[in-house]
Amino acid sequence: MKWKPDSSFDTHVLAAGNIAAMAAAETTSSKTAALLQDLLRFDTTNPPGRTIEQAEYLKRIFDAAGIPNEIVRTPDEGRAHFIARLKGDGSKRPVLMAGHSDVVPAERYMWTVDPFGGVIKDGFIMGRGAMDFKGGQAVFARAMLMLAESKIPLARDVIFLAEADEEAGEYGTGWLAKNHWDKIDAEFALNEGGWIFRDKAGVTRQVNITTRDKIYAGLKLQVLGRPTHSSRPMPDSAIGRLTLALAKISVWDTDPTLTPQTRAYFEALSKTTEGPLAADLATLGKSEDPTALREAGKRVSEQGDYPLLWHALMRNTVATTAVKAGVKENVIPATAEAYINIRLVPGSVPWDVLKQVEAAIGDPSINVSLATTMSEAEDREYYDKATNAAASSTETDLYKALAESSKKVWPEAQVVSALFEAGTDALAWRQRGVPVYGIYPYPLDNDTLERMHGNDERISIKSLDEGTEMIFDTLSKVAGNNQLT
Ligand SMILES: [Zn+2]
Repeated sequence: MKWKPDSSFDTHVLAAGNIAAMAAAETTSSKTAALLQDLLRFDTTNPPGRTIEQAEYLKRIFDAAGIPNEIVRTPDEGRAHFIARLKGDGSKRPVLMAGHSDVVPAERYMWTVDPFGGVIKDGFIMGRGAMDFKGGQAVFARAMLMLAESKIPLARDVIFLAEADEEAGEYGTGWLAKNHWDKIDAEFALNEGGWIFRDKAGVTRQVNITTRDKIYAGLKLQVLGRPTHSSRPMPDSAIGRLTLALAKISVWDTDPTLTPQTRAYFEALSKTTEGPLAADLATLGKSEDPTALREAGKRVSEQGDYPLLWHALMRNTVATTAVKAGVKENVIPATAEAYINIRLVPGSVPWDVLKQVEAAIGDPSINVSLATTMSEAEDREYYDKATNAAASSTETDLYKALAESSKKVWPEAQVVSALFEAGTDALAWRQRGVPVYGIYPYPLDNDTLERMHGNDERISIKSLDEGTEMIFDTLSKVAGNNQLT
């Protein structure tokens, strides 16, 4: 029988099972949650990344609140940014909050609810983008609407930006900054990034405010073999050698690479963690012994409360994300290729990881190179600049307000500056010298965290309400004109 890849998974059977499991609809009195439900009902999957209808919806909300706003159209008619500006007296420069409107695709048949239905289940709002980042967008929008309602006199403008093309595409914040910088220029900005951890007992223990992001890079593995008829297989085919190389990479890992910031982060975590893990986290915070670091890192990555996150924060990560080979079922192909995505800790450059990957594979017939469209000199310049870029200062009024407001809403939490394990569209501001702080403004546990970009993405209504309170309090502190109140 011939292999037919398209029929190998019967997705409709799965879908029917899941729909049958759907619970009766729940409702909410939370204004942030209700706003998020509405936002989730716009399918802004990127690609194609159509955000114009969501922008028009936001426009109606801010118009009704009397807050000046506009839709900024891009050369692609479906992709639009939305910007609202609550005016201050101009004695201080603006504060900006950015939350992206686009979302990654959802594999619908793997969900137990409609990912674009804005469904509530067991006290959680479910849907693609619930936590990344329509939840944050709803929190930022509600906090700004509350600020307008409060009539607190403001020393600076408060800007709310719902941006397009964060997950992919060419008309994101880079395009917006280049073409409309005056609309988004600010003294400092708030974006997605740090995590607020809630422990198993439901107590919020940690608030992480990210002050920089890991650096994105990629490696390409290429193997050249002899093409021939598949009836006469050979031991050294291109696919065979690539498969062996990828198998080695999948069971190998980089050693911990810690920076002063990530050391302080693990040290702080050790103080809010109980049991033997606390000692391992403290080792990551202090030890200079490579063996001790490796062993503690392994245990934390396997048994920690947030295993994948902590694994990623302590090292340069490598993940095979694409494999390309084969032209026809009965041809042994001449070439096979794979793509390895790497996320670098500041201070590292991709060439360090390239050498480690080559050594781990141990097969000189496999060509490992940097996946790039730039010249080597341009790459060197780009990565040198990226890896040496300074973190946003923790001494600004915005950082201090975030820290104080977090302590007010979650008195048992420690507030720590952190590295973001992924990337964001904050570069548009950072490159122009504007400090950017990252936060997913709601407490969550590891289960909720790992649904991000996965199935049944969700955020709890309680977390949304607490986050709204925290951001409202932050805005009141950082933008409120204290002399007048
Ligand atoms: Zn995001």
